[in-house]
Amino acid sequence: MAITVVGSVAYDSIETPAGKRDRCLGGAATYFSLAASFFTDVRVIAVVGEDFGKRQEAVFDKRGIDRRGIERAPGKSFFWQGSYLDNLNEAKTHQTDLNVFASFEPKIPAEYADSEFLFLANIDPVLQRRVREAMPDVKLVAGDTMNYWIKDHREALGEVLKGLDILLINDTETRMLAGNNNLVQAARGVLALGPRTLVVKHGEYGATAFFSDRSFTKKREGQTPHPFRAPALPLEEVVDPTGAGDSFAGGFFGYLASQGELTPAAFRRAMFYGSVMGSFAVERFGTERLQELSRKEIDDRFILFRELTHLD
Ligand code: AMP
Repeated sequence: MAITVVGSVAYDSIETPAGKRDRCLGGAATYFSLAASFFTDVRVIAVVGEDFGKRQEAVFDKRGIDRRGIERAPGKSFFWQGSYLDNLNEAKTHQTDLNVFASFEPKIPAEYADSEFLFLANIDPVLQRRVREAMPDVKLVAGDTMNYWIKDHREALGEVLKGLDILLINDTETRMLAGNNNLVQAARGVLALGPRTLVVKHGEYGATAFFSDRSFTKKREGQTPHPFRAPALPLEEVVDPTGAGDSFAGGFFGYLASQGELTPAAFRRAMFYGSVMGSFAVERFGTERLQELSRKEIDDRFILFRELTHLD
């Protein structure tokens, strides 16, 4: 089943303890679609500027990602500059230039209309909502956001949260959104805002899913499932954490979309595939590792994840 994703396609300048990169290909929708493309068909909605080159387009084409919905507009592409010098688990944002995204009016190509899965990757919640409304027939909608939008775009974000089957955000964003420092209470607070299921990403410590009594997995089990945690792989070296969250989301949602039935077991395996894709993303700068990854490496690492946690 195909996924349509809307979100940032960007240039990133990144500094980590391992080094620096200037203006490499980035953006939430970019990481998401590269990761998800190993599992299912992916179609992107975004806007780029005149500075977006053939080399960047080729990254999408090589993975068979449909970029007919990536519009080119006069001006510059989205630009983000961040560093991880104090804490590898959390980016410090130095600059966010929305550029062509500031006046973007998303159009959905007719070829995307039969997508059954929709992912609202990190971008202005007003745009997320417009795309959601333009695709009323999708079967499952998941989404992401970040502190930038939580702080100053609450109202618009609130409207997006009401329509989400699954929200994927990190610990800090969960606490910020709920105004509560205890993770379990904060998760309950976030679920009360609308999403049926919440997946909280803990960076190098994995991810936890919290379910409401409206979660789709509930219908099958007859009761609200307990939270479920997937680990992250302990790595010798984290080169660049940028995009780990989006790659987690891509692996998670891509795997779910590749499954015939949305069972609780498929959901739990999807959490592991999310962790697998996040663990690859951080091994090199930007999207470098995802660009040259193979399905065999993904399957081998999934086995490693099982061995990390299974008792028998
Ligand atoms: P993450 O998975 O959270 O590390 O996401 C990193 C990506 O998010 C980078 O490639 C940035 O281009 C993108 N990004 C940063 N800030 C924003 C923002 N305010 N809206 C949308 N995308 C952003």
